[in-house]
Amino acid sequence: MKQSHSVALLLFFSFVVFSHSTPAKAHSGTTSQRHVEVRVKPFIDLYFFVYRLASSSDKPPPIDGFAQAIEAARQVPLFTPLKDLVLFNCDSAKAAERAFAQFPETDKLRTGEVIPIRERLVHLSQTLAVIEPSFREKIWPQHKVAIQEAEKRIARDFVPQEEKLFSYFIGRLGMGGSDYVVPIYLVAEGPWPAAFTAQGKLSAHGMCLVNVGALPGASLFAAILHESIHALNLETEGKGNVLVELRSRLLRSGFDQDDRVVREAPHMLVFIQSVETVRRFLDVSYLPYTEGVFARPGIQPLVNIELPIWTAYLNGKLPREKALDQIVEAFVKAQRKEAAGKSQRTGQRN
Ligand SMILES: [Zn+2]
Repeated sequence: MKQSHSVALLLFFSFVVFSHSTPAKAHSGTTSQRHVEVRVKPFIDLYFFVYRLASSSDKPPPIDGFAQAIEAARQVPLFTPLKDLVLFNCDSAKAAERAFAQFPETDKLRTGEVIPIRERLVHLSQTLAVIEPSFREKIWPQHKVAIQEAEKRIARDFVPQEEKLFSYFIGRLGMGGSDYVVPIYLVAEGPWPAAFTAQGKLSAHGMCLVNVGALPGASLFAAILHESIHALNLETEGKGNVLVELRSRLLRSGFDQDDRVVREAPHMLVFIQSVETVRRFLDVSYLPYTEGVFARPGIQPLVNIELPIWTAYLNGKLPREKALDQIVEAFVKAQRKEAAGKSQRTGQRN
């Protein structure tokens, strides 16, 4: 799932990692309930900055030890250390070393390869400890400015509408009943994807990372909403959740759980719902449907099916049940057409 990293790219990703963390809860009795909590930590910024450099061939900053930290990061896949979400609780490389020292000795990657995860992560944190003071002195001040700019935009444009934004998408996606306040960590630079939600296994609470450097204009707000949808989806996976419902309807219609449609169609609704929420409350000119993630190979057929139907539902022209019926029907039809095309081509060869 590697993609080139560019400023205009809008890419999000949901990833399942395992956690014992406890959820942040809304303060009861407050008049305006917050739904997100923006968090900023220099160490977290350093950590994902190093991963940004590890995923590119860009020259590292002229700081002794940076190249070693980048090399150490290359030895551990980005999402592997996010297990237990302990990284997000760390304020320094020393704290990360203590946390990583508790990791299991080995870990099996998706490829089947077994790596000595604890040793590699402890080494990574030690290399980060070497560069941490220089990073804080020479790089963090500029990163902090970029993050503060984003924070200002969030405070000015997003926060006053937060209640409306959340009640809108929560209502449309059937994700009510949770008072989880979504933690959003902002960083100035990070690897692809530009934003993601890490999830816990036991507690299943999401933590979100948002790379402000890759999210100009309204895409920053769409990213926060997109990741918030992922985080609240984890809190409300029961009855009424549209993403769960769409997936189970596709399975009932004969799709296999490994089919691309089953994997991607509910996620496409997350994209559409977050964009449409931004368009309705924050920036009507925001129309990213032909760029970034929407331009990825194989994605346009999903957009072509889901976008008109879901916006018709959002515009009150279609009940939700009907919208879901129509989306599933369209995917079934497209699959039949594809299968017929394939057998015809096979026939021609015979
Ligand atoms: Zn996503």
